[in-house]
Amino acid sequence: MTEFHNTDPAAFRGVWVFCEQRGGELNPTCFELLSEGRKLADDLGVELCGLLLGDGVAALAPTLGGYGADRVYVCQHPLLKDYTTDAYTKVVCGMVMERKPEIVLIGATNIGRDLGPRCAARLHTGLTADCTHLDVDVAKYQEFLKRTSTLDVDGMKWDLTDRGLKMTRPAFGGHLMATIICPRFRPQMSTVRPGVMQCAPFDQAKADACRVELCPVTLDERDQKTRVLEVVKQAKAAVDLIGAEVVVSVGYGISRDVKTGLALAQQLADALGGVVGASRACVDAGWIGADHQVGQTGKTVRPRLYIALGISGAIQHKAGMQDAACIVAVNQNPAAPIFEVADYGIPADLFQVLPLMIEATASS
Ligand code: FAD
Repeated sequence: MTEFHNTDPAAFRGVWVFCEQRGGELNPTCFELLSEGRKLADDLGVELCGLLLGDGVAALAPTLGGYGADRVYVCQHPLLKDYTTDAYTKVVCGMVMERKPEIVLIGATNIGRDLGPRCAARLHTGLTADCTHLDVDVAKYQEFLKRTSTLDVDGMKWDLTDRGLKMTRPAFGGHLMATIICPRFRPQMSTVRPGVMQCAPFDQAKADACRVELCPVTLDERDQKTRVLEVVKQAKAAVDLIGAEVVVSVGYGISRDVKTGLALAQQLADALGGVVGASRACVDAGWIGADHQVGQTGKTVRPRLYIALGISGAIQHKAGMQDAACIVAVNQNPAAPIFEVADYGIPADLFQVLPLMIEATASS
């Protein structure tokens, strides 16, 4: 492995986003990360770069420019056609060691959750997983550091005067938000939850202006301990909770008659052109699939309308839905915490309210 000195922040510059693609299709999370990365890069006055790996994927690069990348590094090789941990880790780490970005953002997708920690370990740096907020307000960062102008790491004093990334993520089961900095090592790496960052609109002029750099890749069979033999598509389409405009979610409050509760929720979702979500209590009870779960360990949604039916409003659930534009909650307990975040609250039995909602939607 090339020698890599990662303790000199001044040697690192630029914000990178790992742009995930599968079968030539970009994962929408990378558009959210590019939009967020754009803000960070502007605050720091540096370039925002996309890192795109695959085989025959260069044509996707201008799209990444349209979402904010100034430059896209494209690494193409037949062994990068399908994601494998070893090959992707080798190429990503090689690029980072050569070009030294100060920040690397990766979507907290299945691939990102595998790739991010592996790369961080190989680069001997830290990684903050599952971030929900990122900030490089340099002034605020300096203020934060005033309280600890030096940090004692392994008995050595490290100067904390460089600009840094503040990475915020839920901790202790979502009961507090922890802000984490990586003062000593570079790059600063984080995986970011899909659906949390707002996506900027696509800009054709930016796509046209984006610089695309094809980077040489050296890989052979020995770099790959695993091989993808076949990709089997899921028979049933996964629920598109993240992209839905309307989410009708059910909670444990449907327990009195689960079948009717689910059927009524589906009927209301269909009438509103939305999808059915659920609290973890329903998923754990086996009433609905895990791809419907909203919350800290499920999906983060930002629909125009979120209807919570028989959901108490635990902090872990709220973490996944409180940024919805309009929240309607139905709960027979008027003191349920869900009402704290609701725009409209109906303290009543969901089995009585749902048919009325369906009827009102159908007649409007
Ligand atoms: P309950 O808490 O049992 O609430 C049911 C509600 O329904 C009550 O408020 C009750 O008043 C109401 N009700 C009952 N009958 C009716 C009726 N007929 N009409 C109207 N209202 C009625 N939870 C998530 O949802 N998503 C997550 O991602 C998630 N991640 C977690 C991660 C961790 C690390 C931990 C520790 C927990 C997590 N949880 C998550 C679980 C969370 O703490 C709660 O246990 C869960 O959200 C409760 O689900 P619920 O509101 O449906 O059920």
